[in-house]
Amino acid sequence: MLPIPRRHYERLYIGGDWVTPSDSGDIAVVNSTTEKHFGWVPSGSADDVEKATRAAEGALPWMSEMSMRERGDALDRIADGIEARAHEIATIVSQEVGTPIEQSLEWQAKQPVTVTRLYAEMSRAYKGDRTLGNSLVVRDPVGVVACITPWNFPLHQIMLKVAPALAAGCSVVLKPSGLAPLTAFILAEVIEQAGLPAGAFNLVSGPGSSVGEALATSPRVDMVSFTGSTNAGQGVAALAGESMKRLMLELGGKSASLVLEDADLEEAVSSSVHNCYANAGQTCAAWTRLLVPRALLIRAEAIAAETAEGYVLGDPLDPATTMGPLVSPQQRDAVRGFIAIGVDQGARLVTGGVDPPRGLNKGYFVRPTVFSNVGPEMAIARQEIFGPVLAIQPYDTIDEAVRLANDSIYGLSGAVWSADPKRALAIARRIQTGQVFINGAAFNYLAPFGGYKHSGVGREFGEYGLEEYMELKAIQLPASAAAS
Ligand code: NAD
Repeated sequence: MLPIPRRHYERLYIGGDWVTPSDSGDIAVVNSTTEKHFGWVPSGSADDVEKATRAAEGALPWMSEMSMRERGDALDRIADGIEARAHEIATIVSQEVGTPIEQSLEWQAKQPVTVTRLYAEMSRAYKGDRTLGNSLVVRDPVGVVACITPWNFPLHQIMLKVAPALAAGCSVVLKPSGLAPLTAFILAEVIEQAGLPAGAFNLVSGPGSSVGEALATSPRVDMVSFTGSTNAGQGVAALAGESMKRLMLELGGKSASLVLEDADLEEAVSSSVHNCYANAGQTCAAWTRLLVPRALLIRAEAIAAETAEGYVLGDPLDPATTMGPLVSPQQRDAVRGFIAIGVDQGARLVTGGVDPPRGLNKGYFVRPTVFSNVGPEMAIARQEIFGPVLAIQPYDTIDEAVRLANDSIYGLSGAVWSADPKRALAIARRIQTGQVFINGAAFNYLAPFGGYKHSGVGREFGEYGLEEYMELKAIQLPASAAAS
């Protein structure tokens, strides 16, 4: 087993220095398995946001002095720094969030490296200028970007914002989640060595209600890039709208996996269960609803139950564990509350339930749970649960299945399974979500990721994610210049 790092950060990273925060409070970071504190970070304030946004504003001319190639090279150095600390990062996030260690290494530590390297390459290769008739269309950095991030994939969500923002020539003030803030501090240590101008990256940890809102209202912030719950995103959007800031919102989801009658049922159902339970269900794009033809419902339930019951719950630092705890007691109680509502509203509990898993008296564990015969009006079919709870919904016709898939305020992800990929593609085109996976296809880091409807505004990943951090400018050329 890997050594367990213990972390105590007392300063914020502002203007290229480690700075004592204005207030003396701190945020204790809890190990979700042992329920004990294992790290502390400062709880910043609006004063610290003021300092950080001034530093970020001051860095903008220096960021513009750097070419996109130079900024790309700096991103590669950041990727190297994260990679060198990958085991430490994975171990920390396993303790904070509960991700099993091997997956933590892949998703929580290596994925941010991959994203950062892709933006490094993209920055070096980027050709932004375009000629349209007598116009030269160019792109400028948006300016100072406030990045507000969640806890479920803490460093990954951060790098999906920080890497393209820096590549575009913006400067950044980052506010990470208080539930999983430690890897943001590792990132600040890495960026300190990366050769960026002082103030290009600033870190102010603290509550959403003070630090987050100060960022959303700051006159020096040009853009808010937010990932989190739809509720908090709506609040941030309202605040940021007062000063017409650009917005990027990556919010909640309630995605459907639609299994056609000709699909490989075993593969479709077991893959959907694994997708739903990744990170103990704490994934925005999880396929939390499984739509199956009514005639196949009983078989689908059996496969889902067997897959769910195959999970090994325990300490995420133990390599035998395949599902860890949820991030916090509030999250555990909220998820168990949804399970109780599912039972009350008449859904069939196939496996799992509200009781704690046997033998696990500590830690915020929830049993992997499958409901079937879930009606479209039930809370477990409509609301984002953010825990290991799958809702199986039967359907009678393809049109009904598509209607059920789209019957949601969310629109983030989804899946279609069929023996006939052409048929699956035709159905995928009818699904109102930012991504749709056919027959378990691989995730593509270059493809846009984001939400329709209440799942958000804007896109992350790839060139789409880079251009969110750029303003468009059309320079109208006189006839003589346009011809040359
Ligand atoms: P959250 O909304 O509680 O918090 C997200 C961030 O916003 C945190 O840093 C928090 O401190 C801050 N915040 C909260 N209230 C704020 C306010 N009033 N003003 C400014 N900032 C505020 O979300 P969470 O619990 O950390 O994360 C889980 C949620 O994130 C889920 O809904 C999940 O679907 C969503 N999520 C979405 C994506 C995506 O890409 N669409 C990815 C990951 C997570």
